[in-house]
Amino acid sequence: MGGATKYDAIVIGGGPAGATLATRLAQQGRRALVVEREDFPRFHIGESLLPCSMPLLDALGVPPDLLRSKFLPKHAAEFVTGDGSLVRRYPFKDGVVSGPNSAFEVDRDEFDSILLQNAARAGATVRHATKVVDFDVRSDGVRVEARARDGSTQTFRAEVLVDASGHSSLVARRFGLREVDPNLKNFAVYSHYRGATRATGDAEGDISIVLAPRGWWWIIPLKNNRTSLGLVAPVATLAGERADTTYLERQIARTPYLAARVASAERIEPVRTVSNFSYRSSRMTGDRWLLVGDAAAFIDPVFSTGVYVGMRQGFLAAEVIDRALARQRFSRRAFRDYERWSRRALDVYRNFATGFYTPEFAEMMMHPSDTLQLRQAVTSLLAGYVVDHFGVNWRIALFRSLIRANKYWRLTPRLPGRREAAEAWRAGHGGASAPTQRRGQEGGPT
Ligand SMILES: Cc1cc2nc3c(=O)[nH]c(=O)nc-3n(C[C@H](O)[C@H](O)[C@H](O)COP(=O)(O)OP(=O)(O)OC[C@H]3O[C@@H](n4cnc5c(N)ncnc54)[C@H](O)[C@@H]3O)c2cc1C
Repeated sequence: MGGATKYDAIVIGGGPAGATLATRLAQQGRRALVVEREDFPRFHIGESLLPCSMPLLDALGVPPDLLRSKFLPKHAAEFVTGDGSLVRRYPFKDGVVSGPNSAFEVDRDEFDSILLQNAARAGATVRHATKVVDFDVRSDGVRVEARARDGSTQTFRAEVLVDASGHSSLVARRFGLREVDPNLKNFAVYSHYRGATRATGDAEGDISIVLAPRGWWWIIPLKNNRTSLGLVAPVATLAGERADTTYLERQIARTPYLAARVASAERIEPVRTVSNFSYRSSRMTGDRWLLVGDAAAFIDPVFSTGVYVGMRQGFLAAEVIDRALARQRFSRRAFRDYERWSRRALDVYRNFATGFYTPEFAEMMMHPSDTLQLRQAVTSLLAGYVVDHFGVNWRIALFRSLIRANKYWRLTPRLPGRREAAEAWRAGHGGASAPTQRRGQEGGPT
């Protein structure tokens, strides 16, 4: 088809953001082309979905039965100290927002394939194993050059270009728009295990966020007795070490709660690492182009917001593109509403993610107040309901004020490990002393 067809939009990348956008455009009767570098299914990290994503999946036409048959239901998020002595569970049903109160822990290879197949079923054209190698944005349209696995190149044309290429962020890199977040210079090291222990019943699919002195771990139970496990911490805490298999295993051994959960488990994926992954593009739209999902920005994954934000952006971007096509006006102004929502959402989640690394924040998460339904508001935030929900927003603002006060006044019991690590950091010794987790740190209330 190459150069002959002029599409309404070309979407670079078929992850959740690109697949969502292409599906919505197709549902609106628009011609969307997705150019995806990989042959799906492909491995991707980021398995924990938020309840607020469920209505989006419904609107895309992804059958709920299919999701139920493939993935583990997730009803709560829990926070645990490294020695396991203190656990705080937030069941989503306790939130202040009435909406779906469960989600899924998904194997991303399968989940992303379902979304992309769904886009094709809705009418989008999908090219797999085809890498975008060049693009051009002109006043009369956009041109994309892509290379297939056999080395052949093809040129595609459209009215609008959407970059959904994830961390590759082709457009933002080319235009020099990417800004690494100076407050979230973190790395992640992770893998999948078979046979890690987990809760039973409704709690089986709980995501566990395990506190480390300067960072946190995720434990995400998946279907078929698989578990995703990873550590996120400031890059500086590596102090020159490589975040490799030995490093991951040593850190697990030093964290009693984790060590117990994987004691008889077997690692079934290579250990992977990614660093400095929090960034934002100084612009997310321009004349005839938009950035969606991780191609626009990525916030630290502590609140599992990535897939939701990317999908929601897919919906909003499809709306503004549809309008621009109807009016045949493709200037940046036409995409203003999209950029505005994206910035607001990213600010909210970013502020919360940044706060999480301070001791006073984690202490408040472990001992939330029930006054004015603050705990319930945090529960809703953990379910993803915050950006468009006033009832959550004002309570979260109050919660954050309490966190600031908790820094100086003892409003909650302390987490000594996290306090000491932060002090060491401030005193300028963080690089040398922060990476190690001493046994028994982050114990219960003092
Ligand atoms: C350590 C870690 C843990 C995370 N945990 C969670 C979590 O628990 N829950 C959650 O919701 N989110 C999580 N995330 C974030 C989540 O994975 C991402 O936000 C999400 O995948 C973004 O979707 P996307 O479609 O924007 O990008 P992606 O899913 O990355 O998709 C981009 C696609 O573009 C393709 N592509 C790239 N370059 C090209 C090219 N040149 N030509 C054609 N195609 C190209 C890629 O092959 C890829 O398929 C986590 C992220 C990290 C790093």
